[in-house]
Amino acid sequence: ALFRRARFRLAAHELHQLPADTGAEVAFAGRSNAGKSSALNRICDQVGLARTSKTPGRTQQLVVFELDEQRRLIDLPGYGYAKVPTGLRDHWRELIDAYLTGRQSLRGVVLIMDSRHPLKDFDRLMLQYCRDIELPCHVLMTKVDKLSRGEAARTLLATRREMGTLCPGATIQPFSALDKVGIDEARQVIGAFLAP
Ligand code: GDP
Repeated sequence: ALFRRARFRLAAHELHQLPADTGAEVAFAGRSNAGKSSALNRICDQVGLARTSKTPGRTQQLVVFELDEQRRLIDLPGYGYAKVPTGLRDHWRELIDAYLTGRQSLRGVVLIMDSRHPLKDFDRLMLQYCRDIELPCHVLMTKVDKLSRGEAARTLLATRREMGTLCPGATIQPFSALDKVGIDEARQVIGAFLAP
């Protein structure tokens, strides 16, 4: 029931706007359109919790969802659209870098990857960050409803193998917000990240 209690707390443009750096939080990352909002909404069982937005301005925010006084989910800004100007990308990098390396309460990253387009540059960058700062990373290979069973199994294996070099220890599971595949597994992993 923990995730159903998720409530929007605030959207931060800068790190100092985040809630006090105590307790535990898990960050959600993913390329624009990978399916991050849909995954968050499914995991929290709330239709309109995380909102999708395709505008570059909004992609620069860290959105905080509170589970209880000590636990939070953070929706990190994604990118991946060609129309995002270079300056914004630099800002994105700085913001993400400062957040990932400086946030004491950060316990893990959930990386959302579209199963039809796995391990894009964005994903590689996130996995390497996690490896470098020794942060647990769990990948939701989402939209598996778009693949046949065979394709999904092959993609999972190939992606898992390549992740072994990019970020040893990172885990991956199939997921579909549409068909509700992998919701319980995702909740268990995230719950374990957030455990005291
Ligand atoms: P975000 O930009 O990463 O937050 O992505 P969204 O959650 O807004 O999803 C982007 C698009 O992918 C939307 O059109 C969603 O309806 C679609 N989508 C998200 N998750 C799934 C899924 O599990 N299966 C399918 N078929 N489509 C999905």
